[in-house]
Amino acid sequence: MSMFIASLNSGSNGNCYYIGNSEEAIFVDAGLSCAETEQRMARLGLDMNAVKGIFISHEHSDHIFGLSTLVQKYKMPVYVTAGTLREIRGKRLRAFVRLFESHQPVSIGGLTITPFPKKHDARDPHSFVVRCMQTTVGIFTDIGQICEQVVCYFRQCHAAFLEANYDEEMLQQGRYPHFLKNRIRGGQGHLSNHQAFELFTSHRPDFMTHLLLSHLSKENNSPELLMALFNHHKTDTEVIIASRYQESQVYPVSFQPPTKTFLSPGEIINEMPLKKKANVKSELRQLSLF
Ligand SMILES: [Zn+2]
Ligand SMILES: [Zn+2]
Repeated sequence: MSMFIASLNSGSNGNCYYIGNSEEAIFVDAGLSCAETEQRMARLGLDMNAVKGIFISHEHSDHIFGLSTLVQKYKMPVYVTAGTLREIRGKRLRAFVRLFESHQPVSIGGLTITPFPKKHDARDPHSFVVRCMQTTVGIFTDIGQICEQVVCYFRQCHAAFLEANYDEEMLQQGRYPHFLKNRIRGGQGHLSNHQAFELFTSHRPDFMTHLLLSHLSKENNSPELLMALFNHHKTDTEVIIASRYQESQVYPVSFQPPTKTFLSPGEIINEMPLKKKANVKSELRQLSLF
């Protein structure tokens, strides 16, 4: 069974990642407004009602901005640690909260979500790997450093959202005050382009088909610079930049490499958990024209 992943948005202006199979899905973080989340899901042909829970990585506003409204409207369970919950109190979540603990897998239909702690300047921050049968997807953003656990889980991933927040030179030369620069690069902030590249070149498993570079800084990074870096190391993995302005495509991910690298629109439609297949068919037809 394939998994399907998409970034609805990625960056300090809002993070929301969709990970699912053909039956159900989860969000990791809810940093877009409810309306924007709905619009982007609709454009991708994805069903909001297939989303069975929201996993919160930490309490920073770019990860929880739309949480309260989404939860109230869709009655979605919110998976969060007790520590993070204390920081986001007042968001009227109580009835929907499911507490999780580090390294304790959570099952939602055919998906198994394993949280593990990460280094970030928040109360109790966590990264996640999501498994569906033999396929594994990792969500590794807002990490100040690459710890052993990130390496261990990255090596298991068929696809990963991996932070590449800043170019060291741009951050150093940029207009941020010194204390903020040090907070970003001090081991409890964000990963640099080179740290992400080092993880990828040293620990990419052969079976990784997709890498979505995530949470790029608007001030201290450039998608062109980042892609130029990753283009130095050609592999079979498709490297994509998750935008801070728009949703990505929906990428099918499978533990077996596809026999074809390009799926026709019809083949994608047949597998995806779509809301209105007919609408998406016509959208895909339009897309192929422009
Ligand atoms: Zn963030
Ligand atoms: Zn953060």
